[in-house]
This record gives sequence, C-alpha cells and structure tokens, in this order.
Amino acid sequence: MHPLFICLIPLTSKGGLSIVFNFAWVNMSKIKALKGFKDLIPGESEHWEVVADMVRDTFKAFGFSPIRTPILERTTLFTRSIGETTDIVEKEMYTFDDWDKKPVTLRPEGTASVVRAFLEHRHLMPLLPVKLYYQGPMFRHERPQAGRLRQFHQVGAEILGDIDPKQDIELLSLLTHFFDRIGLQDLTLEINSLGCTVCRPPYRKALQQYFKTSLENLCKDCNRRFHHNPLRILDCKKETCKTITKNAPSSSAHLCEACELHFKSVRQGLDDLKIPYQHTKHLVRGLDYYTKTAFEMTTQNLGAQNAVAAGGRYDGLVEALGGPSTPAIGFALGMERLMQLLPEQPHLASNLKLFIAPLGENAYQKLFPILYALRKKNCRSEIGHPGAALKKQMKTADRLQAEYVLIAGDQELSAQKLVLRNMSTKKQTEIGFSNLLDTLFSEIFK
Ligand code: ATP
Ligand code: MG
Repeated sequence: MHPLFICLIPLTSKGGLSIVFNFAWVNMSKIKALKGFKDLIPGESEHWEVVADMVRDTFKAFGFSPIRTPILERTTLFTRSIGETTDIVEKEMYTFDDWDKKPVTLRPEGTASVVRAFLEHRHLMPLLPVKLYYQGPMFRHERPQAGRLRQFHQVGAEILGDIDPKQDIELLSLLTHFFDRIGLQDLTLEINSLGCTVCRPPYRKALQQYFKTSLENLCKDCNRRFHHNPLRILDCKKETCKTITKNAPSSSAHLCEACELHFKSVRQGLDDLKIPYQHTKHLVRGLDYYTKTAFEMTTQNLGAQNAVAAGGRYDGLVEALGGPSTPAIGFALGMERLMQLLPEQPHLASNLKLFIAPLGENAYQKLFPILYALRKKNCRSEIGHPGAALKKQMKTADRLQAEYVLIAGDQELSAQKLVLRNMSTKKQTEIGFSNLLDTLFSEIFK
C-alpha cells in the first residue's frame, strides 16, 4: 500500500489534515538544491539587497543605464563570442535542445547577451557610447567549491562604441569606486594589455616559440592551448605550468604603436585619479574576445579564487556577432565572492520597527487596519497571532528583533490605554487608540 493511504486516515477532520500536512513536509524536505546551486535565505538575502541597491545608485551616478537580458540564449551566441576552444564553451555550458530541437544555453556570462541586445535594439540606442549595467545569475558547470558555484551572480558594466582610453579609465574608476564605497579593502587592480589583431599574432608566435621546448612538461590542457590559443597557457593554475610560464615573453613587450599608446594613456589616467594599480605582465583572460586593456580585481583573502572582478576591452566582438565595427569595454564582478569578503553586518537583518501583540480576536480586528495603514507608508511592522498568550507573542517579537511592541487586549482598548514597550530600554508608555496612528508616526516612524 502507498504510505499516503496510511497517513490519510483522520481521527478527526482537523487531526487528519495535520497528518497529511506533516507527511507532505517530510517528503518535500528530501528534495535538495542541486550541487553548486544555492538558496539565498533571510539573514543573508538582506545583505545582497543592500549591495544590489548600492550597485544601482553607484552605477547610475556614473551614467550607466540598467539592462536585463534573458537567461536562455541561442548556443551560437556564446560559441561565437567566448570562443570554441575556451574552458567555458568546451566543458562548462548548460546546453540542451529546445522543443524546436535547436540548441540553447543558460548564459555563462553577461557580455555576449548585452552585445546581442545592443545589436537587436540598435535603433533605440543611437547615441554612442552606450553605457549599460546588469546584475543577475550566470551558469557554468564547474567543480563546486568555496567561491565557485554552478549558478553564481554577476554585476557587470559595458561601454559600447568608443575606442578612446578615456572609456577604459571611466570604467576602471567605477569599479574602484564601487569597491571603495562598499568598504572592501586589500584589493589590487591588476592591469595588462593583450594587444590587437595587429600585434597579437606576432606575440602568439613568440609564445609558441618559448613554450615549444617545454611541451612535454606542460599539462594536457596547455598542450591543446599551445595550438589554439597559447596566451591561455599563461592563465593555467597548475604548478608545473606556472613555473614554466614565469619567464615567458610578455604581451606588453610586443604591443604595436597604437596599443602601446593606448595602454600608456590608461595608466596615465589612473595615475591622474590616484587609483592604485599593478601592471601584471602575464595577465590574460579566459575568454577569446578581449583586446588591448585587460584587468582583474584580486584579493589575497579568498584562497584559490582570488579574482573578485575581471574584464577588458573587446573591440572586435560586436563585429564578430554581425554588427558594425564597435569598440567596447566591460567588466563583471562575482557577487558570491564579493559577499564572502564583506565584513559581517548583522544589523541589516533586524530592522523590524514595530510588533503588534493583539490579545484576542477583537483586538486583532481593531489593530489590523492600523498595521495596514503603517505598511502603506512603508513602515516595517508585524502582528502576532491573537490566540497566542502575551508571553508567546513577546517571544516572537524578540525573535524578530522588534524595536517596539504595541500590546492591546479588550481591556486596554476600552480604557484607551494601549501599551507601547521599547524593547531595548524596557520602558513602557500608555497611548490611546483614537490617535494611535499619529502617535506611532510621531514617536516611532519619525
Ligand atoms: P575565475 O578566476 O574564477 O576562473 P573567470 O576568469 O572564469 O574567473 P570571469 O568569467 O571573468 O571569471 O567572471 C568574472 C567574475 O565572476 C570572476 O572574477 C568571479 O568573481 C566571478 N565568477 C566566475 N566564475 C564563477 C563561479 N563559477 N562561481 C562564482 N563566481 C564566479
Ligand atoms: Mg573561470
């Protein structure tokens, strides 16, 4: 017999209902979130909202407009932009056939979608440069570990339509200011230049020349990278490969005149704004579309996953996706890593101003419209269960960390003597019901 039948035998109709409910609860609790996918629950979620609000007003202050793109896109968008031989495309994308049998992919990053949307709605964004920012979930099938999830969240900014190094400086100043504002220290802005279509090919050759003699000591992945994209060998995390790359030629020594000048102007601009940075000569990015300026915001406080944010110029991407030549630059920062670095902010979770404790059904009916009026004015307040004893309601108020509790039963209501208790000073005052709202607004929600 199915266990559900056993549970459905009610002794009373009330008892029966509660048994069914408990059964469902037990069964449901066996379904867990997927590995690498995480719930964000109260206690933590409030902190995320504070950061999201800060993103909104900081990015807007720098002249960026919000954009939201779909989570699911045609697979070719990512294979064409990120690069067929990158780790992301080769082994990390969540790709499946849609009902029409065409392959679709859960976005592994935001830039490709922003560029697609920019091209699709080009006529609505005629003024260049276009400055956009986004926040949202990304999906990569990586090995889950601290700071590395399969669904993670990024905040990103893109400037499309201007090749001038002034845009690089603008973007980097936004990134630096955002981390300052949020109170994160001990971060290093590392920058490099990856060159362009003119100077990258000779640099690739120089790298192949250098690595040619060490192929048997490089890992399997790097052996593949040697042919497809030797720059990526510089990003390998394996110790043996890292040792070999130590003396590899640097891209900055191979820059053409235009890239050299661009890189110089970016550094000068950062110096002018007194933004500290470090030129990391072997810094490369894991995506194919980057050109010229590339950067990372790194920390020593996150173990192996030391990058909190990363980005760079991608002057060829819009064209590669079928648009007109449109130089661009952008970055993405990882929310999970950022939140890991933030100092604890316990006060964020506890800002319930008022808990109303109604003693009995009649009091509840009189006080609920008061609660509704407060909430309509955005005053965070809560009400207890009228059937619960005062002691129990006070416990609930404590658990919710309410600043004030308003206590009222039939007696208090008819005597016009409701009790308002300040939970931190324990001081109690009496207030009347007729002017209750005005008193609450002037005393608590000032
Ligand atoms: P990583 O150094 O972790 O390999 P990446 O080069 O793959 O990063 P980008 O694609 O440039 O990273 O993404 C920008 C930021 O997004 C990273 O600096 C990081 O903070 C965050 N990020 C990337 N992948 C993950 C992930 N799997 N889980 C959590 N955060 C991530
Ligand atoms: Mg990665």
